[in-house]
Amino acid sequence: MKTILIISMLIMAQNILAEDLMVYTSRKEHLVKDIFKQYQKETGVKVNYRTGKAGALIQTIKGEGAKSNADIFMTVDAGNLWYASTQGILEPTRSAILEKNIPSHLRDLDNQWFGLSVRARTIAYNPKKVKEGELISYEDLATAKWKGRLCLRTSKKVYNQSLVAMLIDQHGYTRTLEIIKGWVNNNVEIFSNDTAVLKAVAKGQCAVGIVNTYYYGRLVKKDPKLPLKLFWPNQESYGVHINVSGAGIVKTSKNKEAAKKFLEWLASKNAQRSFAQVNMEYPIMENLPQNNVVKKWGEFKANTKFNLSRAGILQKDAVKLMYEAKYK
Ligand code: FE
Repeated sequence: MKTILIISMLIMAQNILAEDLMVYTSRKEHLVKDIFKQYQKETGVKVNYRTGKAGALIQTIKGEGAKSNADIFMTVDAGNLWYASTQGILEPTRSAILEKNIPSHLRDLDNQWFGLSVRARTIAYNPKKVKEGELISYEDLATAKWKGRLCLRTSKKVYNQSLVAMLIDQHGYTRTLEIIKGWVNNNVEIFSNDTAVLKAVAKGQCAVGIVNTYYYGRLVKKDPKLPLKLFWPNQESYGVHINVSGAGIVKTSKNKEAAKKFLEWLASKNAQRSFAQVNMEYPIMENLPQNNVVKKWGEFKANTKFNLSRAGILQKDAVKLMYEAKYK
């Protein structure tokens, strides 16, 4: 009885001492709610959140200045995280845990942001429209054999800007421009989102599209009979283009130590087991059990040579090249 009393007093004390955290995030509420609750359960620290579009949240944090109660900014795509870092809203953070758990290509060179889950941007195809062995690589989608068979998402989406940044990093400007011109030449229609691309592939409007895997996962979960499959390109070369969802500590936070602990927890094995799975993404560390659905998509070689900070640094050039190639 006495022990129980002491334990509950300790928990109460922890709750009083623990300062709440505020996360500004562009992630959908249902993707973060449970993991934030799990943290509170384990540590007593309540994680509050405010959701919105990445660009708008960055402007809000800037506008609020020193009065902002944001401790952490969390979003998707290294392009967005990098943009946040250029707006001066993030605090560089050194942490042995973050550096150990997060491979260096999945975090900022300057320690302003850290990848917390991995997503793959790969090729989805309609098996009725594509012959065995026909698919090879992102580059191959620019060749004449895909004329009138490719569907692209708009170049305005950061996911494609980061993909093109990776190509620039890999091939240089001239060759990348050639590749994008090839894509545009083969393209059937520009879509506003990945799900629309997948639906167009499923109904045979095009044979292939470039998408993030979790959109495929969501659509096929709803309708398992859809003629849609995933292909892992560039397995003989640099590997599949991957990106992250991630976060950084807000410069004006009054709670930086607590914010750092929370990021460290998110990058821990314990949290990684659930964090990536909610959205059918991949954990940042290898050898963790994968979601059963994700596991079925098979193993692949990812491009681990491309440091995602480069996706930000090369973003402007990527946008320029896509404009030049008339990729709308
Ligand atoms: Fe997305």
